[in-house]
Amino acid sequence: MIALVDLDSLKKTVKETVDEKRPILEDIARYLYENPEIGSEEFKAYAKITKILEDNGFNVEKGVYDMPTAFVASYKGKSDGPRVAVLAEYDALPGVGHGCGHDLIAASAVGAGIAASKAIGELVGEVLVIGTPAEEGHGPSAGSKVIMANKGMFDDIDGVVMLHPSTSWGVGNQALGISKCKMVFKGQTSHAAASPHLGKNALNAATLAYMATHMLRQEAKRDANLVIHGIIEEGGEAMNIIPDRAVLDFGVRSSDQEYLDEMVDKVARCGEGAAHAMGVEVEIEKKRFYASKKLNYPMVRTLWQNYKDLGAPVKDWEESVQAMPMASTDYGDVSQKTPSAGSYIGIAPPGTPGHSLQLAQASVTKEGLEAMIVGTKALGMTLVELLAKPEILKEAKEYFDSH
Ligand SMILES: [Zn+2]
Ligand SMILES: [Zn+2]
Repeated sequence: MIALVDLDSLKKTVKETVDEKRPILEDIARYLYENPEIGSEEFKAYAKITKILEDNGFNVEKGVYDMPTAFVASYKGKSDGPRVAVLAEYDALPGVGHGCGHDLIAASAVGAGIAASKAIGELVGEVLVIGTPAEEGHGPSAGSKVIMANKGMFDDIDGVVMLHPSTSWGVGNQALGISKCKMVFKGQTSHAAASPHLGKNALNAATLAYMATHMLRQEAKRDANLVIHGIIEEGGEAMNIIPDRAVLDFGVRSSDQEYLDEMVDKVARCGEGAAHAMGVEVEIEKKRFYASKKLNYPMVRTLWQNYKDLGAPVKDWEESVQAMPMASTDYGDVSQKTPSAGSYIGIAPPGTPGHSLQLAQASVTKEGLEAMIVGTKALGMTLVELLAKPEILKEAKEYFDSH
């Protein structure tokens, strides 16, 4: 007779390991806080984290996909099987250090990975800690998760989890996809008074395109959280010369990736139409930055339940998945490739701004570190649960394929 896996005792091992490793995890957070490094330059953080994972028996592949501060650390159970991952971020921001709290993301991912590794000896499968640099978009590794996602990193991973510091607790929040649409209008200069009839005004075309883009809002899909924001980057050299060049740069965001792609095409159409009307040329560059988050309810429910069991004050997940998405993240691209769940841990009072010195400081307070420990346990318990109960991964995959 096959012995049934006692999930509760595996989760107990996870919790005990996190408590035991707490000094190491708090040290990661403090070290990163004191040594903030911007994206693609997180060499100190990278060295520290990979060393700790190696010391704990992980096989660490370094500098993956030609990104010097990216890594994949893995730990196998009793044989090959499903692969589940937790993602680490460790880049800071100019001026405000760890004002986005990525010091705690790093600590929690390392802790969750190590804690899970201690519990999976009898399980089939593998736990990975993936080091994803430059989430804030600086340097050649900017948006590293997009690079990894496009290169197939997540194609053979069955489930991904992570956390992010915030001012409240939640699991399963949406995120906006963001794409760029840049328009370069080219006309003909001419004396604005003496020979306007010989000019082709690129700024007029840009203005028309700018207004036409605004008019798209009237017909916006109401449940897709559309945001369009843009600037006039160039609009002429001198007021007595008809401008032969004008540049518009738009950011387009939505929680619905398909709709986002459709809207970017419509914004581009405004540029083409305006150019046609004004008789100038236009070059349009459309570029995807971060995809929207594809929510996976079976993954969200599982992670949420573990937070709940730990007594964390998490909002009901049904509420979180309905909440209005505010920001964009390269985790969105991961969620478009494989079942995933993200979570927020409350480290600072509501009203504390993101990307601020206050949030950075909160990450190393007693409360901030305690929240990180709770989050670490929830992530670790979830990794183990996914391997111990393959039916959850199966359900997550079915959900992923049908949404
Ligand atoms: Zn940020
Ligand atoms: Zn962040």
